[in-house]
Amino acid sequence: MDTAIAPGGILHGMATITRVRAIRTRADGTWVIVKIETNQPGLYGIGSASDHYRAGVVVAAINEVLAPKLVGRDTADIEDIWQSTLTSGYWRQDSVMGTVIAGADMALWDILGKEAGLPVYRLLGGRCRAAVPVYAHAAGNTIEELIADVQHYIDDGWVYIRCQLGAYGGGGFLEPASPGEGGRPRASALRAPFDTTKRGAFDDEAYLQNVPEMFGALRQHFGYGPKFTHDVHEHLRPHQAVALAQALEPHRLFFVEDILPPEHVAYYRHIKQVCTTPQAMGELFINSAEYLPLIQERLIDYMRIRVSKAGGITPARKIANLCEFYGVHTAWQEGGDNDPVNQLAAYHLDLASWNFGIQEENHFTDGELAVFPGHAVTERGYMYGNEAPGLGVDIDETAAANLFDATRAAQPRFMAEDRRADGSLVRP
Ligand code: MG
Repeated sequence: MDTAIAPGGILHGMATITRVRAIRTRADGTWVIVKIETNQPGLYGIGSASDHYRAGVVVAAINEVLAPKLVGRDTADIEDIWQSTLTSGYWRQDSVMGTVIAGADMALWDILGKEAGLPVYRLLGGRCRAAVPVYAHAAGNTIEELIADVQHYIDDGWVYIRCQLGAYGGGGFLEPASPGEGGRPRASALRAPFDTTKRGAFDDEAYLQNVPEMFGALRQHFGYGPKFTHDVHEHLRPHQAVALAQALEPHRLFFVEDILPPEHVAYYRHIKQVCTTPQAMGELFINSAEYLPLIQERLIDYMRIRVSKAGGITPARKIANLCEFYGVHTAWQEGGDNDPVNQLAAYHLDLASWNFGIQEENHFTDGELAVFPGHAVTERGYMYGNEAPGLGVDIDETAAANLFDATRAAQPRFMAEDRRADGSLVRP
């Protein structure tokens, strides 16, 4: 065996990858965890390769691309494994392969930490803060409901709170209506998926009107102590995004998120010329060509790419370091579909990045957390990991299998389609 133990008891990087597996879990099957096993007894790592809409494709890519590419490699060659897997199909990463590479990358950092006997954040340079601040998700169908939800988080110790109102998060909603009424086309023109008469429709102008009013009411009620954010979900037309950013300026948000879709990021130049509302962007990005100009030109304030969509800890730490030089902070995206392994990967980066800004909260059930011993905990607006070597989280494969519902997992899964009154698609 090629094991070599240093005088301090630390294992040198002599481990070799013997097996790469996909473990699919969550009841709906949307979480995919990569497990990398080695020739060293008991030494393995796990990483997140979850993709909410393409879980089966991710599993196939792990089996058909990742496993044959990695088996036999030394686990310590993290950078080279990342580079050579990225280009292994000639074209660079797409969202599926980026996630697959991320799963391997996190697992290799997990292994490196276990070999070194250190948590990953210490391999990244050590702590820059005592714990990781997290923002809450508050919502309501009315401003009264929203105020009550915000109050509940404030009472529970939270400082950073995302505020969303109504069906589209900003009250930009046209109620269901009869054909020919409420801005809808006549009945003979209505067919799925263009028929919004029964489920309501997105209305840009209503949204543009309601969101500043919402923050006016919130600031009047709570003052300027709480740090508020808002997520536009890329729903506005570009000129409306500029107008919204301007209208929000008096309410001094911590940031507004995804005010533009990725296709129209050039409009950030206009936004930055007319107002100081901080901009968070990036959760749909997968490639450095998409985010590099925004960082270099200082067009955004918070980088929100998801660690697992960036390709893992290896590229994410480079992004964080680059952002530091340009005055951009990190706010790695998490969201409702995130898993506890990706959450901890972000946590280690958060601890070790001076220019960290904020982490998004997650909600997991007790049954889901039971699958991941060592998972992070969030208390009064702060997230805490543990000091175990590596990422500090493991996977209980029996619990993972018990949680998994094959029937639900087999269902096709698509992003919900929001539409305007005329039936046209609003890009997410
Ligand atoms: Mg978002």
